[in-house]
Amino acid sequence: MEKTEDYNDNHILKKPDNFAQFDCRYVIKGNIINISQLHVGAGGIEAEFSIDNPLIRLKIGNTDVPYIPGSSLKGIFRTEIEKYLKIQEKTYKPEHFQNVCYVYENRNSCNTKEIENICLACRIFGNSQVGSHIIVSDAILDMDKFPGIKNKPGVAINRITGAAQRGAVFPVESLQPGGIFSFELQIINIDLKEDNIITRAIKFLLKKLLEGWIYVGGKRSTGLGNIKIADAKIIEIRPEDLHEFYNIQAIDLLKFLGD
Ligand SMILES: [Zn+2]
Repeated sequence: MEKTEDYNDNHILKKPDNFAQFDCRYVIKGNIINISQLHVGAGGIEAEFSIDNPLIRLKIGNTDVPYIPGSSLKGIFRTEIEKYLKIQEKTYKPEHFQNVCYVYENRNSCNTKEIENICLACRIFGNSQVGSHIIVSDAILDMDKFPGIKNKPGVAINRITGAAQRGAVFPVESLQPGGIFSFELQIINIDLKEDNIITRAIKFLLKKLLEGWIYVGGKRSTGLGNIKIADAKIIEIRPEDLHEFYNIQAIDLLKFLGD
């Protein structure tokens, strides 16, 4: 008999648009460090063959500061969680959870479904009908610890054939390893103290981030864009804490995940 897994009483599993009531909120703060060179251009973090040569920058005061857009990080995180859910989905019931929107196959297949029937990935990250339970802020480089930029000659890649475009050579800006970016991720109304497929998927992503298994930006297939999070703390906020905000304690994320 095929093994299936029951789920417990998590609101997000029963009702993905559970934003009207406040159950819990987690705020994770820390640093993103690029372990290898990093190229995030304006063409989008997921564009493997991006030909946008300068790093994307944000004007802060008089300085143009490299950053990683939160929406782009969220896209990478969603892809990681989709991969995890795709591997796990056969063990899961009810059946309509099993057709996870997957970036490499059938993303957005949930947009035409009833809200109760949307897949696990859309339950976490939302879709055109439902809001996201995960919010990721822009990660902004700490210019006091600026690691430097390297210009490398790049070759334009034809997006259709994947081959080098004849004569199209241009400099590509990459941030040298060791850049420190601010990092903030919020998780809304998903109770990480519960054990179910959704909380396990999120913890899987957080562990991958802590261990340095995530890649962002261009030229990922050549090892660029390897990031990890460091000095990460998590704050858990419950409805009862709203009266005594000063009691809320930040816990080391690694310790929290180990519990
Ligand atoms: Zn979906």
